[in-house]
Amino acid sequence: MVAGNWKMHGSRAANQTLLGELEMSLKPEWPIDIVVFPPYVYLSDAVRMLEGGRISVGAQDVCAESGGAFTGQVCASMLKDVGCTHVIVGHSERRRWYHEDDALVARKFAVVLAAGLTPVLCVGETLDEREAKQTEAVISRQLDAVITMHGVGGFARGVLAYEPVWAIGTGRTASPEQAQEVHAFLRNRIHAQDAKIARHLRILYGGSVKAGNSAELFSMPDVDGGLVGGASLSADEFQQICAAASLSGSAHH
Ligand code: PEP
Repeated sequence: MVAGNWKMHGSRAANQTLLGELEMSLKPEWPIDIVVFPPYVYLSDAVRMLEGGRISVGAQDVCAESGGAFTGQVCASMLKDVGCTHVIVGHSERRRWYHEDDALVARKFAVVLAAGLTPVLCVGETLDEREAKQTEAVISRQLDAVITMHGVGGFARGVLAYEPVWAIGTGRTASPEQAQEVHAFLRNRIHAQDAKIARHLRILYGGSVKAGNSAELFSMPDVDGGLVGGASLSADEFQQICAAASLSGSAHH
């Protein structure tokens, strides 16, 4: 799976160009899921533009409430209503700038599942945490918040994304070995509760994924794709990343 997180970028004109170019270059036969995550206001447009094609549309966030008097918020059933299939929860920018804690992220994970959509749960450590050898403790805490609240069953449909905060938007990618080590740790943690779910779970790597480093990252046995920020805004870069994923996807399975 390759996911393109556009963050707060785009315009009607730019989105039309980007999606038009992607539709032309992404091959229908590639054995991967491709999902783009535009800002809320462009979701309906993107769904309309991509109808019947091979690219799905997801949202970057969701409200943990299921509707009502929550000014400025958007609930999961609305995202489903406009044609989204996926929702990112717990992105490090949400955790950092909007003070989302593990409990709130776990509630968001649940509302996404309840609406029949696929949550993409992001976990990852900061540079200070990595240097203090806290990586496993931090990502365990973030993952366990979801498992404790809802059980491991949610990952039968959910997707996990390992995004080291020090690698996001910094140009500093985790090495394939660093990514593999953490991905294997995450899969083992799920495996301890349910071997089948662990085997089928897709664990994406995110953090400065580019055309030039994607094939190496995706060749790792526990790296099942990428969550791509900056490079998802370039049709050429994004399609090269998708091509790399589809090659390694065919090899893995
Ligand atoms: C992200 O925002 O999820 C991300 C990985 O960003 P970038 O690829 O720009 O580092």
